[in-house]
Amino acid sequence: MPLKVTGPLRSFFGWAGNLLYPADCRICESPLHTLTRVPVCDACLASSHPFEAEIFCVQCRTPFVNRSPLDENGCCTLCRLGARGFDAAYCAGEYEGALRKLIHLFKYGGVYSLERELVNRLSDALPRDQRFDLVAPMPMHWLRRLSRGRNHAEILARGLAKRTGIPYQDAAYRRKSTPPQSRVSRAERRRNVRGAFGVKWPETVRGKRILLVDDVLTTGSTAGACAAALKKAGAAHVAVITIARVDRRAWIEPTEKARGRAATA
Ligand SMILES: [Zn+2]
Ligand SMILES: [Zn+2]
Repeated sequence: MPLKVTGPLRSFFGWAGNLLYPADCRICESPLHTLTRVPVCDACLASSHPFEAEIFCVQCRTPFVNRSPLDENGCCTLCRLGARGFDAAYCAGEYEGALRKLIHLFKYGGVYSLERELVNRLSDALPRDQRFDLVAPMPMHWLRRLSRGRNHAEILARGLAKRTGIPYQDAAYRRKSTPPQSRVSRAERRRNVRGAFGVKWPETVRGKRILLVDDVLTTGSTAGACAAALKKAGAAHVAVITIARVDRRAWIEPTEKARGRAATA
């Protein structure tokens, strides 16, 4: 529970508070009135854009602007061809607004106290009717990990494992360091990550239902390649869970997406 600090008490404790966090919310810059572990106001913490669409693939939950990529069962082409890699994808919200900024604060801003908040989001996104045997992080190449100092996916996966009681296992590893994926096309992404992942102890994943944890899902190529390696090693089911997901309809058809939103409002 946050400690309420108002009036003279706020200025009295101000210096101590400033040692712990800045006086303003790091997202909307409004003054913080409570001593909390995170430098973000309650309104920003509560705000999120649910990741939702009228038309989406029943398996990978990729949203589409129209039904043409889906077959009669509601499956997209990649899932139908088995090229997606993972069996399901869950996320807490869309990668924009306050949620996007929260992830940035955690990943690049050094605000590690957001861990609990972000693990809560993952836990809420987990469907209650699904059973999993292992929680595994999206692996980072050891060279990258060395330069970054930590793998954020690993912190989140450990937190989720603790929260849910599902055993944690660092199941996969990254064979090759791939260039940053944000500025390359979908086809290039797929090429970059082909053969990039290996499984540490195949006998420990055989027949298991695995929850693969990452912070953001963009095209799904990287997560798909890792999931494919786990499945090749014998995993029965691999679901990807992320805090946020990029809605690629916004890149392709911004007007159509806006129209869809207006229709559902
Ligand atoms: Zn705020
Ligand atoms: Zn699909």
